[in-house]
Amino acid sequence: MKYIGAHVSAAGGLYHAPENAHNIGAKAFALFTKSQRQWKAKPLTEDDILRFKEAMTTYGYEPHQVLPHDSYLINLGNADPEKRQKSLDSFIHELERVSMLGLDRLNFHPGAHLKVIEPAECITLIAESLNEAIQRVPDIKLVIETTAGQGSALGRSFEEIASIIDQVEKKDRVGVCIDTCHIFAAGYDIRTRESYDRTMADFESTIGFDKLMGVHLNDAKSTFNSHVDRHHSIGKGNIGIDTFSFIMKDDRFDNMPIVLETIDAEIWDEEIKLLYELENK
Ligand SMILES: [Zn+2]
Ligand SMILES: [Zn+2]
Repeated sequence: MKYIGAHVSAAGGLYHAPENAHNIGAKAFALFTKSQRQWKAKPLTEDDILRFKEAMTTYGYEPHQVLPHDSYLINLGNADPEKRQKSLDSFIHELERVSMLGLDRLNFHPGAHLKVIEPAECITLIAESLNEAIQRVPDIKLVIETTAGQGSALGRSFEEIASIIDQVEKKDRVGVCIDTCHIFAAGYDIRTRESYDRTMADFESTIGFDKLMGVHLNDAKSTFNSHVDRHHSIGKGNIGIDTFSFIMKDDRFDNMPIVLETIDAEIWDEEIKLLYELENK
């Protein structure tokens, strides 16, 4: 079963997210559990939690159809100990929110070395952060997103992500999210049957599909191997529609949240419909 959806708004209350997803025909959704551009958040109240859980039931979503995304401010690989601690505290706080909402995973960007330290050192810092977060918050899966490698962002290669996982003690607590725009911009071609198969075989041998816990489905305004992170609507960018057809027919992507982060929210319902059509074509 493919769970296709979008990163929906939770403005006005988190309980709006399941409803917003339902209204566009989504079988999955992503959300920010707090403002993605601020450190601070009002604590969740009993009422917030209850209303969110009620909406999950009303609209028929299970935790494995939901992929919360963490704040953009967090950098778990920051070389500055104080700043890294601030990021880690915030990350742990977000994991706790995810847990309170009855969800089971949190998607995050690995971190950036900011040209202050070597990538390998940054990877070790990220893994140390993850080890501490795993100790502090039980059960929730930490889902590392593949990045375009813009600036000094880590996670541009499957190898970088594998080496983070390598240094995590409890490996059953980490997963991976493939962002199609990001991997394409990072230099993984997926435009033809052949290149798609090659890239996915590389993912399997370097990380493994058993680690895949979510997908961000985006076409790309950025060009191949440009390391520029710019999303586009499905079929309108430089990746092209064929790739999305390959994914919709690939059962390695079953039973996990697959969410659009495409640029025009007005057409998410059409994009979701189109994707389900591709599945049966
Ligand atoms: Zn992301
Ligand atoms: Zn993404």
